[in-house]
Amino acid sequence: MKKQAFSKIENRMVAERRMIYEMIEASMALAKKKGTHPITAGCSCIACANRRKALIYGSPAEWKHRL
Ligand SMILES: [Zn+2]
Repeated sequence: MKKQAFSKIENRMVAERRMIYEMIEASMALAKKKGTHPITAGCSCIACANRRKALIYGSPAEWKHRL
């Protein structure tokens, strides 16, 4: 099979996506490591990030999913 060549833009998008996944993975790992804790300024775990986001933007009134 011929190796697919990506353009520079596609390569950058792949790299950015990988970085975002790694950041999410790291914040989830941190949340697992720290366990239950109150919202802390400067904490980059996924739980604190989500709680900060909810404080700033409010929580969604209703979760909607479409499969
Ligand atoms: Zn935290």
